[in-house]
Amino acid sequence: AVVIERVSKSYGDNRVLADVSLSAAPGSVTVIIGQSGSGKSTLLRTINHLERVDEGYITIDGGLIGYRVQADLLFELPEAEILRRRTDVGMVFQSFNLFPHLTVMQNVVEAPIHARGVPRARAEAEARDLLARVGLSDKIDAYPRHLSGGQQQRVAIARALALRPKVLLFDEPTSALDPELVGEVLDVIKELARSGATLVIVTHEMGFAREIADTVVFMDQGRIVETGSPARVFENPREARTAEFLSKVR
Ligand code: ATP
Ligand code: MG
Repeated sequence: AVVIERVSKSYGDNRVLADVSLSAAPGSVTVIIGQSGSGKSTLLRTINHLERVDEGYITIDGGLIGYRVQADLLFELPEAEILRRRTDVGMVFQSFNLFPHLTVMQNVVEAPIHARGVPRARAEAEARDLLARVGLSDKIDAYPRHLSGGQQQRVAIARALALRPKVLLFDEPTSALDPELVGEVLDVIKELARSGATLVIVTHEMGFAREIADTVVFMDQGRIVETGSPARVFENPREARTAEFLSKVR
């Protein structure tokens, strides 16, 4: 499970996350929605340790991701342990962020071999399985520039899975794609959800959110305003701000 406990973060005077608590059970799909600037990406980035929080803590399957801040007191794990735990969380970004000078196979095996010390033969065998899973067996030796956006994003998903993360985060995984390529990426994410992966997804695709989410979280101005099943949040939002947001995006 991912547990976010009373997390706050500011950039200068801008309180971007304000006392956010959230938990995601193993095998669950949590979809975060909310308008631009509400703090969705910042929240994902704190889970992935790309940002530090000012207050609060985050655990994955009971273990701190690295540190905890309570009443301004910092408790931090040793650096080596933080690095080890960092691979518990995988992340897929809006812009695919593949290494342009590496082939599809090399992109996927890079971290397992160099960060984890997995023997090359084993890493490549696993990469072949992952690339088959995302429908790219025929692109193993291609370079990113020769792939469509949807294919690049599927490589990015395979690459994230290669470290066997306990949770996979997606930040608007389809918003940089041409409309006709969105479906193939959403299908891969749906397959991951069916296979029991723990997913936290920021998306503006409300139809997809509704279909895939176990829990929908609506954020506004750095706060979680409302949480519930997609049917409940989309049909019967409790908060006026949620209803207003939904009326704009639908
Ligand atoms: P979008 O839907 O546009 O992606 P978001 O909900 O993901 O928006 P965030 O990117 O989390 O929003 O940004 C939340 C707030 O934090 C915004 O006011 C943004 O300007 C601010 N912010 C984000 N990153 C930084 C940073 N590195 N330095 C300063 N301010 C930042
Ligand atoms: Mg964002």
